Amino acid sequence: MTRNPEPMNYSDKLQAPVFSILSDIADEMGKESYVIGGYVRDLFLHRPSKDIDVVVVGSGIEMAQAFARKLGKHAHLSVFKNFGTAQVKYKDLEVEFVGARRESYRHDSRNPIVEDGTLEDDQNRRDFTINALALCLNKNRFGELVDPFGGMEDMENLIIRTPLDPDITFSDDPLRMMRGIRFASQLGFYLELGTFEAIERNKERISIISRERIIDELNKIMLSRRPSVGFLLLDKTGLLPLIFPELAALKGTQTIDGCGHKDNFMHTITVVDKVAETSDNLWLRWAALLHDIGKPRTKRYDKRLGWTFHNHNFVGAKMIPGIFKTMKLPLNDKMKYVQKLVNLHMRPIVLSEDEITDSAVRRLLFEAGNDIDDLMVLCNADITSKNQEKVKRYRQNFQIVRQKLKDIEEKDRIRNFQPPINGQEIMETFNLPPSNQVGDLKAAIKDAILDGIIPNEYEAARAFMLQKAAEMGIGKPEGTTA
Ligand code: ATP
Ligand code: MG
Repeated sequence: MTRNPEPMNYSDKLQAPVFSILSDIADEMGKESYVIGGYVRDLFLHRPSKDIDVVVVGSGIEMAQAFARKLGKHAHLSVFKNFGTAQVKYKDLEVEFVGARRESYRHDSRNPIVEDGTLEDDQNRRDFTINALALCLNKNRFGELVDPFGGMEDMENLIIRTPLDPDITFSDDPLRMMRGIRFASQLGFYLELGTFEAIERNKERISIISRERIIDELNKIMLSRRPSVGFLLLDKTGLLPLIFPELAALKGTQTIDGCGHKDNFMHTITVVDKVAETSDNLWLRWAALLHDIGKPRTKRYDKRLGWTFHNHNFVGAKMIPGIFKTMKLPLNDKMKYVQKLVNLHMRPIVLSEDEITDSAVRRLLFEAGNDIDDLMVLCNADITSKNQEKVKRYRQNFQIVRQKLKDIEEKDRIRNFQPPINGQEIMETFNLPPSNQVGDLKAAIKDAILDGIIPNEYEAARAFMLQKAAEMGIGKPEGTTA
């Protein structure tokens, strides 16, 4: 490992005031200091970032203290003594300080033994060449690039590569395998062959990584421009079944009597990419990833019908709480949203195959509520048949569904449907205790509105309720005589 004989200088990249302050402090302390890692990488990739990592050959904590003093009362300092690191928040910046360190690993944990070290030691412990770049802060070398592993070249060639032997890098900290795939997906880079093969060999080591860290990386893959890049790499390296068996189960095709079905994994990641083209919503992307998750469990072959996946939407929606729980995804309204979209994902298509009645459109609007637009995005992305004629026909029918949804929503405002008559009013009118009868009447009013028998208005609903109650032989309205 040799230093570039004629170091490149990038002082033009460090023009923000924060770097001249850091430079002053580095010289006042008389310590070699560098901006390093992701911040430098992103500087060259034109991905603006507010998280700056500084490594000092000496005490990171002392440098952070000096920096915070210089900035005055608007700076907020946090010291993590146990880790030998400190962070200063100032305006929208977060500057992290750490002393240069050398790390050695034991087999059973990703927590290394840490000792003070040189810049070179510190760069050796970094995960990828593009993440090991350092720019010097000291005045006499301000902006000088230290790039011992050819990170700049890899950046130009869009390569993810470990600085040292990839088997050691990945075995030391298996999270790096996820990070590598995430960077490939996020930055549109390629895994260098040796790096790729080392992930294949070390994949089982992922078992020592916590679910929380894995899901952080998975979410970053999900948020990248083309999430399929990450999922294909997870599959090809063999990590997929280890971190997400339900998704891996979608893989493959089967043929009976010359009748095959599509590979649902390939289909799924295509759908995720298509959703990603129109929406940044992480949870809509999750809904796309999980929309067919129930297919392996519902797959049947029937001589007459061919391959069927009856109720896969329903079965899939039921699998979601379990998946969210193991994966440490939030068990809140986000999960409910994903469940709802998975459950409803075929409805607009089914609707478009039949004669599109107002009543069916109203019911869909009622069930999807405010998520109707997201559902339509998902459903549109789900149309991926290789048969262009079929795709064209679906798209045309879909246009009709869209128009009808718009018309009916304008007319009937079903999206935020609140029944014009509530349970309380039913109980008071007929002098009923809370009971099935109250629920039945409520449901009858709702159905009448959704089926277009009555408009979504109070007077009509009231009249319908009185008539329906009479038919059902329910109580006498208050104030009437027998
Ligand atoms: P992002 O901020 O987008 O998650 P990053 O590469 O900046 O990506 P950080 O967690 O901010 O990731 O880490 C900053 C730097 O610390 C990295 O660029 C890398 O040099 C180093 N680093 C982080 N995690 C690891 C790891 N698990 N193994 C080795 N080096 C790491
Ligand atoms: Mg970062």
